[in-house]
Amino acid sequence: MDRSLFIDGFWRAASDGSTREIRSPHDGSLVVVVSEATATDSSAAIDAARRSFDSGEFASWSWRRRSDLVARIADLLERDAVEIARKESGDTGKRLVEAEYDLADVISVFRYYAKLGVAVDDRIVQTGDDRIRSRITHEPVGVCALIGPWNYPLLQASWKVAPALMAGCSFILKPSELTPSTAIHLMHIIQEAGAPTGVANLILGAGTIAGAPLTQDSRVDLVSFTGGLMTGRRIMAAAAETVKKVALELGGKNPNIIFADADIDAAIDNAVTAVFLHSGQVCSAGTRLLVERSIHDRVVSEIVRRAKAIRMGGPDDLLAETGPLISRAHLEKVERYVDSAIAEGATLLTGGKRSGEKSHSAGWYFEPTVLDGCNTRMSCVQDESFGPVLTIEVFDTEEEAISLGNDTIYGLAGAVWSADTEKTERVARALRHGTIWINDFGPYRAQAEWGGFKSSGIRRELGPSGLDEYLEIKHIWTNTSPAHSGWFSDEEQGEDS
Ligand code: NAP
Repeated sequence: MDRSLFIDGFWRAASDGSTREIRSPHDGSLVVVVSEATATDSSAAIDAARRSFDSGEFASWSWRRRSDLVARIADLLERDAVEIARKESGDTGKRLVEAEYDLADVISVFRYYAKLGVAVDDRIVQTGDDRIRSRITHEPVGVCALIGPWNYPLLQASWKVAPALMAGCSFILKPSELTPSTAIHLMHIIQEAGAPTGVANLILGAGTIAGAPLTQDSRVDLVSFTGGLMTGRRIMAAAAETVKKVALELGGKNPNIIFADADIDAAIDNAVTAVFLHSGQVCSAGTRLLVERSIHDRVVSEIVRRAKAIRMGGPDDLLAETGPLISRAHLEKVERYVDSAIAEGATLLTGGKRSGEKSHSAGWYFEPTVLDGCNTRMSCVQDESFGPVLTIEVFDTEEEAISLGNDTIYGLAGAVWSADTEKTERVARALRHGTIWINDFGPYRAQAEWGGFKSSGIRRELGPSGLDEYLEIKHIWTNTSPAHSGWFSDEEQGEDS
């Protein structure tokens, strides 16, 4: 029987014995069979995390000791890098080389938090009274539900797990039902690294069945969620019942703005990568190209030429530049998205359909797609496709570029391309998005905060703020010379006085 739920230090089967087959998005072959948790299993995982946290053992470890644990996890991830990258590409269908890049980022996140945590010090508050010692200190937030998506399964998990461990929290990790393999491997590593029993727990299965209880249960203190906007709304509403802390990393409709005075060749090359990397299954993908009218034809014709030349293929195809979509359901969603864009008046310049290549016939391959003549009233400009679909809008002035770039409910990321450094600074400041790249697109670092304005999320991951998510702030006031407060009289009062 499969035992891939990790609860209270043991590998277990689902309480009703259910399992799920994970199939390759590349060719439908069987990748792995895993346990499919029930709500009962989720409750058992919460119970284990709660007991481990309430025992106080892990929270009482010194910062140095927890830092050593997190650094050891990074070492073990490095040791198993080849195997883990293969598992990630097996579940997601992404090229092995991309999974290897992702894993390098995962390791850097664990290393970053191992170092950062050691530096969290108390803050002394000056009260102006020598008898008083007042200080601000940090405590772990408690039991955390960490719920992640399928596009970067281990990377998104690492942004949550590394700071949660560093802070001394206990947690239940729930990866996407489609991509469980690397989360299982991570749990083995955390166990090997020496985390106390019950600190790290793993639940696999459907969000509505195994995930939802984590967001509703009063024994959970914080939900950190990365995924789609609709799920984020549901989770926030569920968490409100028990006033949990909530951190949300949601979707984006990210404007990539090219002015006529930019390095056009570099801008075009990056625009292609920005939207077609990982077949657009990237929250910060540059799905909206905003191009100054005078360079529209040159930019668009070159992007279309480049899009047509993109080579798609599976994990082991060394010549492939991008891979399949995650599932049939997702491919059908992207198809509907393109159909409604065309119905709304967008002009299809290339793509817009499943790949016709024979070697792709058993997988979920969708051609890189470019839609011209778009505007902010169209659903293709407002809604996330999470596929390889670029919409093109034109602008005439800097003010118009800013206004279009902000005309979205999302606010995750954006880019501006121009040789005029004052202009790029003005535009970068005016765009209401959490990350802005100037003359670049896509890079991020573990040291720099990541997250969204508006409906792209709440709070931040990565950087010092990413650790703050998992810490409660406590003020401790010590009076070294206790005295009467003197507020109320301590003399007995007679009845008639
Ligand atoms: P999703 O459908 O919202 O699912 C995300 C996670 O939530 C999955 O583990 C899912 O479980 C779980 N879930 C679903 N319903 C739930 C519920 N009622 N209660 C608790 N958990 C529930 O998102 P996705 O399709 O996996 O990921 C794509 C989305 O993630 C895109 O919108 C993308 O922009 C966003 N994303 C954002 C960032 C960022 O940094 N802002 C990064 C990556 C991705 P199952 O899948 O197992 O059902």
